[in-house]
Amino acid sequence: MKYKFSEIFDIPKLQKLMEGLYLASGIPSAIIDIDGNILVAVAWQNICTKFHRVNIETELSCRQSDQYLKEHLRERGSIVPYIYYTCPNGLIDAAAPIIINGEHLASIFNGQFLFEKPDIEKFRNQARKYGFDEEKYLKELVNVPIYSKDKLDSIMHYFLQLAEMLGEMGVDRFRLIESQNKVLEESEARLKTIINNTPNVAIQSYDEDGKILFVNKASETIFGWVSEEIVGKTLDQLNWSKENAANMNKFKDLLESCKTRKPYKAFESIYINKQRIKKNIFTTLFPINLFGGKREFISIDIDITEKKRFEKEMKRLDQLNIIGQMAAGIGHEIRNPMTTVRGYLQLLQNRVELQAFKSQFKLMIDEIDRANSIITEFLTLAKTKPTKTEVCKCNLNELISKLFPLIQADTFTQNKQIIFEPGEIPQIHLNTKEIRQLILNLCRNGLEAMKADGCLTLKTYKDGQNVVLSVRDEGIGIPIENLDMLGKPFFTTKDIGTGLGLANCYNIATRHKAKIDINTGLNGTTFFVTFNSNCESSAQCLSS
Ligand code: ADP
Ligand code: MG
Repeated sequence: MKYKFSEIFDIPKLQKLMEGLYLASGIPSAIIDIDGNILVAVAWQNICTKFHRVNIETELSCRQSDQYLKEHLRERGSIVPYIYYTCPNGLIDAAAPIIINGEHLASIFNGQFLFEKPDIEKFRNQARKYGFDEEKYLKELVNVPIYSKDKLDSIMHYFLQLAEMLGEMGVDRFRLIESQNKVLEESEARLKTIINNTPNVAIQSYDEDGKILFVNKASETIFGWVSEEIVGKTLDQLNWSKENAANMNKFKDLLESCKTRKPYKAFESIYINKQRIKKNIFTTLFPINLFGGKREFISIDIDITEKKRFEKEMKRLDQLNIIGQMAAGIGHEIRNPMTTVRGYLQLLQNRVELQAFKSQFKLMIDEIDRANSIITEFLTLAKTKPTKTEVCKCNLNELISKLFPLIQADTFTQNKQIIFEPGEIPQIHLNTKEIRQLILNLCRNGLEAMKADGCLTLKTYKDGQNVVLSVRDEGIGIPIENLDMLGKPFFTTKDIGTGLGLANCYNIATRHKAKIDINTGLNGTTFFVTFNSNCESSAQCLSS
């Protein structure tokens, strides 16, 4: 049996019931469970509680009596289904078992009593023997009820009927508890499944001390810690990277203020998770009150990284649009006069009388070329559509192979290495001119980030429906605070950088409905460009 007698029955009510019986009929009683716990005790005789159970020797006799009844309960007959016993102290106890669902859970006792008037002399001697106050002892003896064997039969039959009825009630209650528990278990299991499998919504619960009690699967995916690693620990005990320190402190402060002040908090933050992936998180924190006055704190975190990326992309495209319009408007106007100036400079630098200024002429022409290349890149930004004729279905590996010698030459002159590892990939729709530009820009950045001997690795591979191009360098990495700036026109950390290379790459990727991801650290940076190979026509694949 899963339950104890005291879990199935309302013990205070039983106590009242038996007290009522005593008041009406003078019948003392007790219910003791199978483990020996006294659950109900009514009118135990003072002669026992104040004398027999107080003296060490007589108490031993009391225990003998308890033991006898316990051991012999099974021997009761079916006609007289109870047993009785006269204890060595001279009083009688009777007992019957309460059976629930075939199991003996408790026993009901009647006692102590006598069958006939007591032998006063015997009790007087007993008082002397054990040093009881004779007068008080004999006074209590008078209170012990006396009934005949027939009366005991009828009392015990009544008790048994009561026990039987209690047993049946117990079984009913037991079944009710079982079925209620089953319903509860089912609904708990359903809730757990829902909470555990809710995608993209991380749910954790914390206790009052900030200890993590539960995390769902989405939590494991977003933050990178599996349940076994973190349950039972506080946030301080987890090995968060330094960049999260401010966030952690903020979260802990909010947890504290949730306990005392306004109970509901919502905020946005950026985490670097265990796998060092940057995540934008929207958190809602609130307390819940549980049974018994217990409180837990629930944190619901929504991964809004993609949303943020989309917002950023929209903002960037807006900026590009403005720049594009500007570029289209003034680019040509600047380039034309510059071509004239460059032409004259070239002409003049060959004049004999100006040979003394040859190096200055070279410098001026180089500077004009540089300005011109900036304007060229600037003008590419203005372009929003690839011209139809430039788009074709082709293999990225072939395109890279053709471009490879060019990049290799550049690499070797800088004493660096380059590797190309082509993977098995399907053909995809590409604007070859633009993708060539994208690859060159990424390679150029990779090379510029590395010291001599560094190695640049280009790879292509298939990832589900997607074709991925990765460009990995062994350079200095990109500081976290700069990550958000990448792709913004004119953002550069280089003395002679234009800050337009990545802006162009993002622009080209957007036109190809491709995505650029970055993984960066102290050992280098990898740019991933992910194309969807599933587009059947160029119109579908390339934004119009
Ligand atoms: P530029 O190369 O002219 O500076 P880009 O738009 O190509 O402009 O790059 C912008 C900035 O991004 C660079 O100045 C550099 O700080 C950073 N960056 C880009 N690629 C890398 C890389 N592979 N490693 C380190 N930093 C990089
Ligand atoms: Mg660059």
